[in-house]
Amino acid sequence: MFSTRRDRPEATVTAQLDSLMEAAGDAVFRLDMQGTILYASKRAIDLICPGAELVAKPLSTFILAADRPAIDAIIAQATDSSQPSKTNVRIQTPGAALWIELQVTVYKSEHGQSELLAVGRDISGQQATEERLRHMATHDALTALPNRSLLSDRIRMAIAQSRRTGRGFAVVALDLDGFKKVNDALGHPVGDALLRVAAMRLSETLRDVDTLARVGGDEFVAVLPGAVSEAEIQIIARRMISTMQLPFDIQGHTLYVGTSIGAAVFPEHGDSEVKLLAHADTAMYRAKETGKARCVVYDHEKFTQPEHDVSMEAAMFQAVRDGEFLLHYQPIVDARSRQIMGFEALMRWSRPGEGMVSPAQFIPMAESNGLINLLGAWALKAACVQIRRFEEVAGRPLYVSVNVSPRQFRNDQFLDIMDEAMKLSGLKGEQLLLEITEGILMSDPEHAEALLTAMTSRNVRIAIDDFGTGYSSLAYLKRFPIATLKIDRAFIKDLPGSVKDVAICNVVLSLASHLNLSTVAEGVENKEQLDFLAAHGCGLIQGYHTGRPLLPEDIVTLLKAERSMTASPAAA
Ligand code: C2E
Ligand code: CA
Ligand code: CA
Repeated sequence: MFSTRRDRPEATVTAQLDSLMEAAGDAVFRLDMQGTILYASKRAIDLICPGAELVAKPLSTFILAADRPAIDAIIAQATDSSQPSKTNVRIQTPGAALWIELQVTVYKSEHGQSELLAVGRDISGQQATEERLRHMATHDALTALPNRSLLSDRIRMAIAQSRRTGRGFAVVALDLDGFKKVNDALGHPVGDALLRVAAMRLSETLRDVDTLARVGGDEFVAVLPGAVSEAEIQIIARRMISTMQLPFDIQGHTLYVGTSIGAAVFPEHGDSEVKLLAHADTAMYRAKETGKARCVVYDHEKFTQPEHDVSMEAAMFQAVRDGEFLLHYQPIVDARSRQIMGFEALMRWSRPGEGMVSPAQFIPMAESNGLINLLGAWALKAACVQIRRFEEVAGRPLYVSVNVSPRQFRNDQFLDIMDEAMKLSGLKGEQLLLEITEGILMSDPEHAEALLTAMTSRNVRIAIDDFGTGYSSLAYLKRFPIATLKIDRAFIKDLPGSVKDVAICNVVLSLASHLNLSTVAEGVENKEQLDFLAAHGCGLIQGYHTGRPLLPEDIVTLLKAERSMTASPAAA
């Protein structure tokens, strides 16, 4: 049926070897130096195809094409080193492909010719276990998605591929909004089930070429080859956001979560795995802070510029010690009577040799390096004390509006600082208005709720600064105890000419009136704007038209003049 060379007298020694190995259950081949089969043992024939004729055929014919280079490599290696050389290859059998461990040794035949002895051992069972282990090491057990380590490989592969093709790709970081609440309230089994469904839904929005990995509790990262423009990324992000907004039916609960997304593109936003992941993450936090359920694409200019000015940062620490920061006060006036009702305290940095540095430049940096806590605490105290002084001059109550940055708001000591400022100055709670942005409320609603409740109990009021620019849903206006909306200058600027701005202002003013909130229009620069706002029910006005931000001594002069005018109305 098949021929062997066992009958060749010179083969006796090796024949003994063969039978030994065969007894050990191994498949034995002898090959010439080109890899052509000279002899195949019974076990070898049974392994490949019982009854087949193997002699004079290249061994590689029976190996899966993908593994043939491995055979060539170990033959070369064995020849080179005269040492046994091993590899794992799959052989194609009439049934499934089998994994065999193949060991190749060069030996001299009795004729003095070099030949190859190849011994194969069936390791399919072991290989399957290894594959399972490999899968476990590279996948997340809960969702079966790739884990961080496989993600890392995929990103590196995408980088290599992009370098070849010149076509970039996006790394997208997602985080479920409100997942922690579900987990805390309903327990981990519900949380886990929710994550599994979320993973499935997200996978369905992606293409075959994309990778979706779970990298932490409720954090996912997707690699999207070819998605490079903001528009392409937003289309994919929109699909992911939409699918996550659908209710989740989990173990009898109907749950609502959502997702915020940040994206970074190779190579513009980072040329390494680390940078891409970090920048996608930064963008995702921006998305959360600015209202959630949205996708923000990383922007170098916007996200990093102030933080990277190292010399300015060093100077800032020095400036805090040297007392170079001061406050200007901008009048906030009644829209009808034009009377000054209060002031917004606006920080300035009087930097020697540089003049006045704008807070737009140094506040973001102070926010990122933590100095804002120190500066903000100082500003709050200084403003409360200053307002009492203004009241004495004016002879009537006034209020002060103080900006609070996200980091201050998150600081555990903030309430204590506020209490201290009021105690120190003797200012009443109702005379203090704290200006925060929508993002602060939305990034951690539970914390915000607790803090705002504590403030309300002291009669301290809260204003939403830059209202309308945060993309937020309006639901939070119901949830939180908010007193005032400050309409952003962007909507005031083109009043009353712009039809759109007229519509927006009207909507905001009517919303505020229904919710019993007071309104301040910011950045009012001329009489037309003022007249429009007064006629449409805006209560308070702040802007260059009614008063620029001024030093305390200039405000004192202003208030003195006002008082002398009201004291002798004839002079008015
Ligand atoms: P903001 O809270 O929106 O402050 C209003 C800004 O508009 C101020 O800029 C003010 O000078 C300017 N402004 C007022 N009226 C007009 C007008 O009629 N036209 C124009 N074009 N602008 C007007 P400023 O003082 O440069 O402050 C910029 C930002 O820096 C503030 O925006 C606020 O977000 C932040 N900031 C200022 N002081 C503090 C502070 O003490 N703490 C914190 N956390 N942030 C502060
Ligand atoms: Ca403000
Ligand atoms: Ca503002």
